[in-house]
Formats: sequence, C-alpha cells, structure tokens
Amino acid sequence: NVNVAERIDYVFKVVVIGDSAVGKTQILSRFAKNEFCFDSKSTIGVEFQTRTVTISGKLIKAQIWDTAGQERYRAVTSAYYRGALGAMVVYDITKRQSFDHVARWIEELRAHADTSIVIMLIGNKADLLDRRAVRTEDAVEFAEDQGLFFSETSALTGENVETAFFKILQQIHSVVS
Ligand code: GDP
Repeated sequence: NVNVAERIDYVFKVVVIGDSAVGKTQILSRFAKNEFCFDSKSTIGVEFQTRTVTISGKLIKAQIWDTAGQERYRAVTSAYYRGALGAMVVYDITKRQSFDHVARWIEELRAHADTSIVIMLIGNKADLLDRRAVRTEDAVEFAEDQGLFFSETSALTGENVETAFFKILQQIHSVVS
C-alpha cells in the first residue's frame, strides 16, 4: 500500500537468534502473519518479514530477520547483525541446552552488533509446560544480570508473542527518538 509506505516514520531491524529448532521461524511468522506452520522447512531461505505497527503515534515498520537455518552451520555472518536495533535471543523452555547456549549468543551480539542494541531473551514453547526444563526464575535472574528484557512465549498458541515484539519495538523507539 503506497500511502502507508509514504507515511512510515521508522524502519527497525530486529534479528532473531538462538539455537536451531527453538522456534525462531515460527515466532516470526506468528508476529508477521499470525500463522503457525507445522512444517516450517519451506521458510528456509527467507531473510526477513515485515509488519507495520503504530507505537506512540508513529508508524513503525518492523523488519524481522530470520537466520533461515544458517545457525546450524555456525554461519551467522556479521552482515546479519548489521544495522540491527533489536535482537531476540530465543531458547526452548523444554531444552536446557538451548538456554545454556544463550550466553554464547549474547557474546556473538556483543561482538557483531551495535552497542546500543536492545536485547530481549525469549523462552519459547511455553505451551509445553509438562516438559519444562528451564525454570522461569533462572531465566529472569540471567536476564536481570545481563540487562535484558525477558518473556516466555508460545508461537503455537500465540501467547505473549505480540506483547514481546511490541515491548522490544517500544524500547527501540525510546532509544532512537
Ligand atoms: P527454528 O529452527 O528456531 O527456526 O525453529 P522452528 O520455528 O523451525 O521450530 C522448530 C520446531 O518447533 C517446529 O517443529 C515447530 O513446529 C516447533 N515449535 C515452534 N514454536 C513452538 C511453540 O511455541 N510450541 C510448540 N509446541 N512447538 C513449537
């Protein structure tokens, strides 16, 4: 829509990182298209999706980048991080290892991204409560130590996905404006 395009106030690039299979692609399509796809392999190769939202009366185009499977080959390049104003570091609440690797992903961000980047820690698959392997309190403590925002989400049910994106976009807006 040309009229909307002309009125965009900001474009915010947000990267989504974390171990393979934690649900990065599904979180992104939940936010961008309100979809959950049980076979997400078809999305490999897609670089980013966008959604335009209004925050504090400003029209903000969120450009959300997906690693598109690159993390499997440790090939997330510095080009991926370039210009990113926000990052969502995702782990799976049922996979302890994916939480243990978060520190590494944060280091990766500190090495490649802008120092003012807004970082949000996301514990995904919150619908799988009976298989929980990471306590909420542990994640809250880690997030506080590292100065990150934190939320548990479910791309499957949609729980907290929208709220998490609005939170990070609002925060970026308050940093840039
Ligand atoms: P990625 O490799 O991090 O992009 O992960 P995907 O988005 O491809 O998801 C990996 C697997 O987890 C897929 O089988 C998804 O259907 C599943 N998945 C993703 N998000 C959720 C969620 O919130 N809840 C549940 N139960 N499964 C999910």
